[in-house]
Amino acid sequence: MHRIEFTATGGSDVLAHVETDDPVPASGEALVDVAAAGVNFIDTYHRSGLYAVPLPSGLGLEGAGVVAAVGPDVTEVAVGDRVAWTGAMGSYSTRHTIAEGALVRVPDGVELDLAAAVMLQGLTAHYLASSTWPLEPGQRCLVHAGAGGVGLLLIQMAKRRGAEVFTTVGTQDKADLARSAGADHVVMYREVDFAETIRGIAGVERPLDVVYDGVGATTFDGGLSLLRPRGLMATFGNASGPVPPVSPLQLMPSLFLTRPTLFDYIQTPAELRRRTDEIFGWIADGELDVRIGARFPLADAAAAHDALEGRRTTGKVLLVP
Ligand code: NDP
Repeated sequence: MHRIEFTATGGSDVLAHVETDDPVPASGEALVDVAAAGVNFIDTYHRSGLYAVPLPSGLGLEGAGVVAAVGPDVTEVAVGDRVAWTGAMGSYSTRHTIAEGALVRVPDGVELDLAAAVMLQGLTAHYLASSTWPLEPGQRCLVHAGAGGVGLLLIQMAKRRGAEVFTTVGTQDKADLARSAGADHVVMYREVDFAETIRGIAGVERPLDVVYDGVGATTFDGGLSLLRPRGLMATFGNASGPVPPVSPLQLMPSLFLTRPTLFDYIQTPAELRRRTDEIFGWIADGELDVRIGARFPLADAAAAHDALEGRRTTGKVLLVP
């Protein structure tokens, strides 16, 4: 089998494509032939050292594939099952061992690459729109980086819940994608001051109920300035760098601030499956459009990282064997 490993943190050049022995599934684990592994921004934080991991390490958290073998005491999955997962470090691999509690079955109506594509970004969009701030019809939200992996899915889920969606994007092509996903107002935040533009569109100083901000350093203050009293800033990522320290005084007028992470919203196998069942159902019914923006061979994981960090991707980026 082959996998991506790194022995030191740094740029994408630390990623090595290595051949290694097949892992043997331990008790409670399944060995899976990986059909597709998802590339996520968090992988770049692990690689760069922004989020520390013990080294040497594999990389990548999510994927989908077919169970090739099971270890002792596995009861939930069997050889031949189509499965998907998130939270299994080392998923940039042709074969991977995964705890059965982290696996979900992929229904027949859902292709494996689409399943891989929604495990991390789709679950994130799901918990943000339905749990962190359960959007209600008529509420106004802002989704930054609306043509990205989380962005395109979050726009669609926010529209399903009846919200009015403002979004920011970096290019005209990305604006077209965000609009096709259902965004009501698309702002080119590299060309204009997004906060002033949104104020102008809405006609009020503080129009938003909630800001979903995965961009971080460059957008945090502008987003905060748009929230109505008792609105929520959900800062969930650092694509432009981490948000600097915040004074509680910045949260006047009575704003709420949360820093959510996916793994707190899939704390049990039951919660994981409740969310994936809903997402897979929407995909099977043609109600959620999952855009695979790029596929890279596993050996080219570094190029996939360069594209993601260089803002050249849209939707999901997958690694395929
Ligand atoms: P995306 O596909 O959204 O890619 C990141 C996008 O961010 C880029 O395409 C770009 O879009 C925008 N961006 C803005 N400024 C920069 C910059 N300086 N450098 C690079 N990109 C920039 O990535 P993901 O969907 O994987 O993740 C989006 C965010 O969500 C990330 O911050 C990630 O860490 C976070 N996340 C958090 C989770 C959680 O539970 N907390 C779970 C999953 C993701 P544009 O060109 O339009 O500006």
